[in-house]
Amino acid sequence: MSTNVRVRFAPSPTGMLHIGGLRTALYNYLFAHHNKGKFILRIEDTDQNRYVEGAEEDIITSLKWAGMMYDEGPDAGGGAGPYRQSERSTLYKQYAEQLLKEGRAYYAFDTPEEIEAMRERLKTSENTNPKYDAVSRQHMTNSLTLSQDETTSRLDSGAPYVIRLKIEPGETVQFNDLIREAVSFRTDDLDDQVLMKSDGLPTYHLANVVDDHLMDISHVIRGEEWLSSAPKHILLYRYLGWEAPVMAHLPLIMSPAGGKLSKRNAEALGIPVNVRDYISGGYEPDALINFLAFLGWSPGDDRELFRMQELIEAFTLEDVSKSGAVFNIDKLTWYNEQYMRSRTNDTLVEALKAELLRSGITGYNDAYLDSVVELMKERVSKTSDMVTQGMFFFAPPTDYDEKATAKAWKTQTPLLLEEFLAEVEQLPAYTAVALKETLSQVVERNGVGFGKLMLPARIAITGTGGGPDLFETMELLGKDEVMNRVKTALKKV
Ligand code: GLU
Repeated sequence: MSTNVRVRFAPSPTGMLHIGGLRTALYNYLFAHHNKGKFILRIEDTDQNRYVEGAEEDIITSLKWAGMMYDEGPDAGGGAGPYRQSERSTLYKQYAEQLLKEGRAYYAFDTPEEIEAMRERLKTSENTNPKYDAVSRQHMTNSLTLSQDETTSRLDSGAPYVIRLKIEPGETVQFNDLIREAVSFRTDDLDDQVLMKSDGLPTYHLANVVDDHLMDISHVIRGEEWLSSAPKHILLYRYLGWEAPVMAHLPLIMSPAGGKLSKRNAEALGIPVNVRDYISGGYEPDALINFLAFLGWSPGDDRELFRMQELIEAFTLEDVSKSGAVFNIDKLTWYNEQYMRSRTNDTLVEALKAELLRSGITGYNDAYLDSVVELMKERVSKTSDMVTQGMFFFAPPTDYDEKATAKAWKTQTPLLLEEFLAEVEQLPAYTAVALKETLSQVVERNGVGFGKLMLPARIAITGTGGGPDLFETMELLGKDEVMNRVKTALKKV
């Protein structure tokens, strides 16, 4: 492919960046880098009613966290700016006027009630949602039905109006989508799309097309939910006399329970929807990226672990599938374990520190945290689990797992624990090896199995029935702490 590939990620700041948006950004990023092109961030904020404070910041933070820096964007500069549509209003007006002048668009003065009345009037069982189109527009209040003088005087009097695209009926338009292949549509099926709203701002369709053209976008890569808008865009390009970019509509992300993954059904399945939840949940960016890349794409063989650079090399739009991709959170967990375990202890210590800070826990030195990491990293799926599942490293248990206690705590348990405590007290060297040896001696002397003492000791010290090596844990916690915990448990359990 030529070197002038330019693609954009064009989110609307109407909420926090969701996981599907991050996948769209990723495919754009990979395609741009694979083809030595540019990846652009454009904020599509023309819908003031849906603007959410903080959303743009969230988008930017998420992209940077994921390692997808853009070449051009609101805070990155570039020669095709500004990159926020709200700062480009005059441009859209200019092109709407060009369309008006060339008879490709018209003014419409109908109130929402009048449009509703038209729909009611024309509604039939075959046509449940009549359009504002070549037929119905002849009976509405617009610059096609009003005289020129009437139109001018309405405009001069400041009457509210919109500008609509004048779609020619009876045509079939085709385009080739890189993923969907040949797409064809009939202009009869389209509404005369509003291009400029009564607030003087463009709709998504006009702004999107104007900007993709002015920013010299070569490929539009976006979610399948935009496929139905593509015909309008193709017509707009045609009416404006521009060449349309190549289109590629990405497959839907599906819920494991069936149907499209929506905010609601994702939450019901415990799947985080917003990227920020993956960040705060302690996921590895590399894992999320690898996972998302495979949500609709595969390299065509059975390799699964790809870091960003490897994805860039392997990624092509031709290998993106048409059919929906099921979001399997267990697969993400697997990826996360792979990437987390491949990290050095030093970087995991830093991650653990950040997690602890979030929980308001400070004051542990790096050597201690390094030991926690060493004990936990093979057991957990993400760095935040080191805190949630390893809280006992930072505080005595507040309660004791009921099931484990019911199973392990027998009448002889207190005696065994007391005998063990007394011997631990005497130990010349308090080490994991010595602790294990001591425990073995106590059980042997009492003629019971290892678990009879080991399990209660674990419950007393950690509050749970499972976890990392108990003796290493005891050594790390220190003698006094361990003695105190066992004594407390003897009173409380
Ligand atoms: N602003 C649209 C969105 O929020 C962009 C769609 C497109 O890429 O054309 O997803």
